Amino acid sequence: MRETNFLTENNARHVWHPMAHPADMLANLPRIIKAASGVEITDIDGKTVLDGVGGLWNVNLGYSCDPIKQAIRDQLEELPYYSAFRGTTNPPLIELSYELAEWFKEDGLSRSFFTSGGSDSVETCLRLARQYHKVNGQPERTKFVALKKGYHGTHFGGASVNGNANNRRNYEPLLPGVSHLAAPYGYRNPFGTDDPAEIAAAIGRQFEDEIAFQGADTIAAFIMEPVLGAGGIMVPHETFMPLMRAICDKNGILLIADEVITAFGRTGAWTGSRLWGTRPDLMSTAKAITNGYYPFGAVMIADKIAEAFEANKNTVGAIGHGYTYSGHPVGAAAALATLKETKRLNVAANAGARGNELLAGLNWLKEKHELIGDVRGKGLMCALELVTDRATKTGAPKDMVQRLQDAAYDAGVMVRTSGSNVIISPPLVITTADVDRILAALETGLTAAAGGK
Ligand code: PMP
Repeated sequence: MRETNFLTENNARHVWHPMAHPADMLANLPRIIKAASGVEITDIDGKTVLDGVGGLWNVNLGYSCDPIKQAIRDQLEELPYYSAFRGTTNPPLIELSYELAEWFKEDGLSRSFFTSGGSDSVETCLRLARQYHKVNGQPERTKFVALKKGYHGTHFGGASVNGNANNRRNYEPLLPGVSHLAAPYGYRNPFGTDDPAEIAAAIGRQFEDEIAFQGADTIAAFIMEPVLGAGGIMVPHETFMPLMRAICDKNGILLIADEVITAFGRTGAWTGSRLWGTRPDLMSTAKAITNGYYPFGAVMIADKIAEAFEANKNTVGAIGHGYTYSGHPVGAAAALATLKETKRLNVAANAGARGNELLAGLNWLKEKHELIGDVRGKGLMCALELVTDRATKTGAPKDMVQRLQDAAYDAGVMVRTSGSNVIISPPLVITTADVDRILAALETGLTAAAGGK
């Protein structure tokens, strides 16, 4: 490996980072992470910290999962690549489809379409939703409805259903025919209530109103994350997703569950849809499907949708969509090994138990630290929303949030920031001692952010 100076200088000179300002690169040098083991990462200066971000909500099993690494090595030797376009397939891809049908049986999803990551999976869902209606004799159903604060990746379709201005405004015009409902966000919403059940019902009314305005027969699908992630962790009331499902059903609209974060146990349930007792028509997955070790994703398809395509012998049923790496044999082998380990370690149960401890600890921190305006979480996806004034709910400025992150890192834990939110999404295999470590580092960070020592 080259020396540190070479790496820092050339990162600043040549690398453009996702979700960062290119002009910022010299002023705010990124940390160079050179190694990882267990639930810890090590930077180029040799400092080792607990990864409270879990990679990017994807390294659910930590960094030392040998069966996945071995499966990748073995598959590279056996068949490093072949395409799954019409006419060819490969053994790990078939086996993975079989295992995924088992995994998602309770969600009513039996067919899989493979992708290279979350944005690809979302895009695939949006395209298949439109095509389904054409197959089904309703070609005028082309529009999408989504939630503000939702995050669905950065392809043009995904960006169009995204509910965050930062991911949208410099890339407009986006896809026409997309409307957004309010987020299920208790701390800030237009409804004048913080009661989650009331908020759920109010968004339901907004949805029905939007359907009446647009015309039900023009809408292809509604897309939502079962727990909103990148937008700042919004946990809807338990009635919310079933209500949205019922409104979709009443109006012939498909429900797309974007489970890129939630599909493999992060919320404490095996899928977010199951958490809320709901079955989607299409589900996007990626991230933890390979524990972050290989770029890969899968769209899961409900029987109703699959059967409509399979029964249609016209060209409208032919899938004009797919990626060079759809069904990559190495990704499929990585996913197979990941599913096996995910199940063996029963990480959903641990995510639920450790998540409760973490949430209780965050609420305890809120009692002590004025800077915390709101605490949210489900399983191991949690957030602190920082404010400079609890009465006015004024969001904490960037430098303050950055101070928290830096001090928490110095104290031994990496956390992520997004606007005024601090996001905590560690690997699902953490222990109670790890939860304590996260809370202690956050406490140090909060004190530093508030200007103390
Ligand atoms: N959907 C959701 C819910 C996500 O959280 C993400 C990524 N954070 C994506 C889609 C996009 O995934 P990717 O970054 O792998 O393209």
